[in-house]
Amino acid sequence: MRVVLGAVEGLDLEAREVIAGPLRLPYDYLILATGSYHSYFGRDEWAMQAPGLKRIIDATEIRKRILLAFERAEVGMSEEEQRRQLTFVVVGGGPTGVELAGAIAELARHTLARDFRNIDPGAARIVLVEAGDRLLKAFPEALSAYAKQKLERLGVEVRLNHRVAVKGDEGVCLGDRLIPAASVIWAAGVTVPNLKDWLLAETDRTGRVAVEPDLSLSNHPNVFVIGDAASIPWRNGMSVPGIAPAAKQGGRYAADVILAAVNGKRKPAPFRYRHRGNLATIGRHAAIADFGRLKLTGGLAWWLWGMAHIYFLIGVRAPFLVAAQWFWAYLTFGRGARLITGLAPLVQSPSKTPPANASEGSPQRLSLSKADLEQTANGIAKQNQAVRLAARAT
Ligand SMILES: Cc1cc2nc3c(=O)[nH]c(=O)nc-3n(C[C@H](O)[C@H](O)[C@H](O)COP(=O)(O)OP(=O)(O)OC[C@H]3O[C@@H](n4cnc5c(N)ncnc54)[C@H](O)[C@@H]3O)c2cc1C
Repeated sequence: MRVVLGAVEGLDLEAREVIAGPLRLPYDYLILATGSYHSYFGRDEWAMQAPGLKRIIDATEIRKRILLAFERAEVGMSEEEQRRQLTFVVVGGGPTGVELAGAIAELARHTLARDFRNIDPGAARIVLVEAGDRLLKAFPEALSAYAKQKLERLGVEVRLNHRVAVKGDEGVCLGDRLIPAASVIWAAGVTVPNLKDWLLAETDRTGRVAVEPDLSLSNHPNVFVIGDAASIPWRNGMSVPGIAPAAKQGGRYAADVILAAVNGKRKPAPFRYRHRGNLATIGRHAAIADFGRLKLTGGLAWWLWGMAHIYFLIGVRAPFLVAAQWFWAYLTFGRGARLITGLAPLVQSPSKTPPANASEGSPQRLSLSKADLEQTANGIAKQNQAVRLAARAT
């Protein structure tokens, strides 16, 4: 197997070539597994204010924004601005949104609870907004209701039947009501980029490519689309879900079809997705599991969720390492890395809310001059630089 690092920019189906920058890679068979990305429903400008979670770089960006919001709230601003910094809005009530909202609530109420002097991190407001009438709609209603109740017990405000409009630095609008929020995280919907243009094929509304029963492209039996990028009919009018087991099964199946063709053997029967179940976590000791007739909630489902994710990690070292880290985090209520990576000024600008004199009417509040704030921001910038240099050195 040859591995080439590069971004595919197009395909020449007639010449049977993949185009990646200056490279033209010829093929006999082609498997497209380019996955999906978050969709802003045509409002891509919201991506700056409301990052989504897909790649590792997205995860560290979101971590940075969440931790910085607490730091910014700590350094004495107007109460209004403090409230804005301590308001976190998660858009989308699927598994990613539910997990994020639960994780932020636990971070605020437990992990960071004693780390600040001027603010109470536990007072952070976490709002989870979903356009539909329930969370986790891939799960049965009873499990959705359990997830909502658990999140609310963690202090998350769940807003159903609401569509969000991101309002720049200010926050989000639900209908005509503004929720001032410095941190907005996007977990609402996915789209499949590029394939529609490259293949000129039929796609569903999220851009997933319609495939034949053997996962090949109509009129192109040597081109396969699998995983999140493919729209494969399943049951009750639904498509095969965009989850890892479906992608892995599709990959194995497409390889079998190609091997059979190359070796002159009989073509395998049409692709059949085997659904092993759905798992979603909400927070500590709270998860849901749907295995058809068997449905689980609470601690048992949570342990199962953890074990399932560790079991499928590749290699020998990773499962042990992750298991040890998770167990430690479980015992200590801690979170792995609390690094704020990347340059980010402590003082956010420009904000619609003018910073008031921090000491007025609040004896507990620190009174910091502009010079103090700049010094702190420079300190953080230097620390970040040091972290980056250390990371580069290792
Ligand atoms: C936050 C989050 C949590 C999730 N949790 C779970 C879970 O708990 N369980 C579960 O089963 N599933 C989970 N999923 C879904 C799961 O990750 C996907 O279903 C699965 O990764 C799909 O596999 P794939 O191979 O189709 O695509 P991907 O894993 O997305 O891989 C696509 C690859 O193609 C590359 N690529 C894209 N375009 C190009 C191009 N033009 N040129 C070159 N390379 C390109 C991308 O960089 C990427 O590496 C989660 C997803 C997210 C975002």
